[in-house]
This record gives sequence, C-alpha cells and structure tokens, in this order.
Amino acid sequence: MQAGQIAIITNLHGNQVVDAWALAADEAGEYSSMDHTRSMNSSIYFEKGMVVVSNRRRAMVTLLDDSAALRHDTLLCPCNAELYQQLGCNGHHRNCSDNFHEALSAKATDLPFTPASLNLFMNVSVHSDGTLERHAPASKAGDFVALRAEMNLVLVLSACPQDITVINGDDRTPRDVAIRIVADYPEAFS
Ligand SMILES: [Zn+2]
Repeated sequence: MQAGQIAIITNLHGNQVVDAWALAADEAGEYSSMDHTRSMNSSIYFEKGMVVVSNRRRAMVTLLDDSAALRHDTLLCPCNAELYQQLGCNGHHRNCSDNFHEALSAKATDLPFTPASLNLFMNVSVHSDGTLERHAPASKAGDFVALRAEMNLVLVLSACPQDITVINGDDRTPRDVAIRIVADYPEAFS
C-alpha cells in the first residue's frame, strides 16, 4: 500500500477473524508492534480512531472506520502449527503464522520471526481479574473495517483457519473475507 491508501476489509459472513500485520516498505526490520501499539493508544483493545505503530513507534495504519464499532484484540498470538498439534490435530494444519511468512515470500521478503498480530474482528474480553475469555466474533455479515496506510507498507492479512475453538464463530467454520484497496475513502462508507 502507498501512504494514504485505504484497505477496506469486509467480513462477508460475519464470523471471520483476520490477523493483520504491516511491514514498512522502506525500512528493513520495521513492523507493526502490538506492544508499542497498546502503549501508544493506552489501550489493550484496538478501536476506531486508533493507530497501529511500528517497533520504532512510527504510525503505520489508522482504523478510519468500523461499521460494527468493535473492540479488536491485540493480546492473543497468531495461531501456529504447534498450537494445532496441542489441540490434537494430526498432521499439518493451516495457520496464521505460516500464512504470514508465505505471503512475505511471495513478495521476496521475510522476517526471521513472527510478530504479534492485530486480530481484527477477534472478540476477546478482558475481565477485571486479568483473565481473558474468547468469544465468537460480534460482527455481522457485511461488517467492515477501513484501515488507512500512514506510510508505504506491506499489509499482510490472514483469514484465521482456526476451526477448533469458537474464535471464528460458533460453527467453527472459517470463511472468506473481501479486501479492497482504494485511494479515497468513499463517503458512502462513512
Ligand atoms: Zn489464526
């Protein structure tokens, strides 16, 4: 994405969590950091108007709009192959961490580790005693978020393939989302 462009991510069926990362196009090793994002926003959730910052505290993407006014998760790690083994899967299971690295390899780049993801549409409540509770997404079919790039960057998205817990809906069935990159944010979406 070029700075100023907007990614509109539509939850076609309402149930789908989308793990998201950004990498600075012009700075090797600069990536979206949930640690720094929570510190910058003074919030453990990610909501409309907040900004994702990099490990160098530079603004990367802003949540320009959110049709369902959700509290997106910043706390849980992206799923990986080992998680599915621990959940009892035999053989390889698709996972967000592998999706991240596969997507980067398609751009002839990579990172030597998997940063924490911004978990769009992921519905995790944080209780006063500090415990977390995973819920099905609160979004409905057609709900969307609009993310504005604040620098030239590579945006990586993974429709989470989790089909064992309810994080992608009570029927535990991951489904497609739609992504559009636009130059101007349509007034119709505001
Ligand atoms: Zn996942």
